[in-house]
Amino acid sequence: MHRGSVARPADDAHWRAVVDRRPPEGSVFVYAVVTTGIYCRPGCPSRRPKRENVRIFEGPAAARAAGFRPCQRCRPDEAPGADLAARIARARTRLEDTAEAEPALADLAAAAGFSPSHFHRVFKAQVGLSPKAYARTVRAARLRAALEEGASVTDATYEAGYSGPARAHADADAALGMTPSAYRRGGAGVQIDHVIVDSALGRLLVAATPRGLCAVAMGEDDAALLAALRARFPNATLRADGAAAHAVLPAVLALAAAPGTAPEVPLDLAGTAFQRRVWAELRRIPAGETRTYSAVAAAIGQPTATRAVARACADNPVALVVPCHRVVRTDGGLGGYRWGPARKRALLDTEAASNPSDTKSDS
Ligand SMILES: [Zn+2]
Repeated sequence: MHRGSVARPADDAHWRAVVDRRPPEGSVFVYAVVTTGIYCRPGCPSRRPKRENVRIFEGPAAARAAGFRPCQRCRPDEAPGADLAARIARARTRLEDTAEAEPALADLAAAAGFSPSHFHRVFKAQVGLSPKAYARTVRAARLRAALEEGASVTDATYEAGYSGPARAHADADAALGMTPSAYRRGGAGVQIDHVIVDSALGRLLVAATPRGLCAVAMGEDDAALLAALRARFPNATLRADGAAAHAVLPAVLALAAAPGTAPEVPLDLAGTAFQRRVWAELRRIPAGETRTYSAVAAAIGQPTATRAVARACADNPVALVVPCHRVVRTDGGLGGYRWGPARKRALLDTEAASNPSDTKSDS
């Protein structure tokens, strides 16, 4: 150990950054405390050390080389925010791919380079759900997929990774908004509120269960829009102008008017694990940009699944909210659109005009 070999005492500027817990713009320096053997980022919330015990290093590597250990609170080895999103996205994919009912969150955290508590916090900030809650929605989606494919409730329960029907039932009620049997029976016992309004893109149907948005569709004909909703949930109780639909309507209308905005609407979507991965990936495409079907396939780690990606886009239950219109063909063609190619063209033109990508900054 050669503590202090490349360290220097804190000069006034560095000391001020430590005292203020505010690093100078662009600086990556860390400070080590000789009495504890720990080094921190300047923003660390830990108790302020004595100035004479502080040594300044140009970066975490230098502090480590000098024999200091990283602080558990401020985690100075992690680039502040730089690759957090990517690491969480990878953890999320692992979580989706695991067949276990209760994925080992400590392992996921370690694989992503976080302590369990830090992982929990960052995951929740990025995804909007805790890792456990997210795992529950993944299992619930599997359950739905199996039920949609015609499996019995019991088979679907085990296929989805549940230990038993009681657990599945509890989870499904929380995450699906429907019990497995109700979903199996085409939404029997579930109330779906819907509203149809005018929009720049024609008549717009918005439907929601008490758990969240379950359908957004566009068309010319109210009767056809309703018929499609009924076909999807043949046994649900459909209620026109219900409260659940009105609760999410403003967010959807805002999205239809200004496609770049991303309102946080609770979603209640049925889908296979694959479909949900595609839909999640589509939600990461910024307004004003497009991706090809094959790029989306590559992004979800299944580069040969271009056709399945196109099918998942076509099966998107919530227009605009999951922006499947931002996916186009490799040859420059528009590709299909469940709600008509003219609407797809119009959406892409509007987004390109309101959000020119050549003026965006990457800083
Ligand atoms: Zn610290």
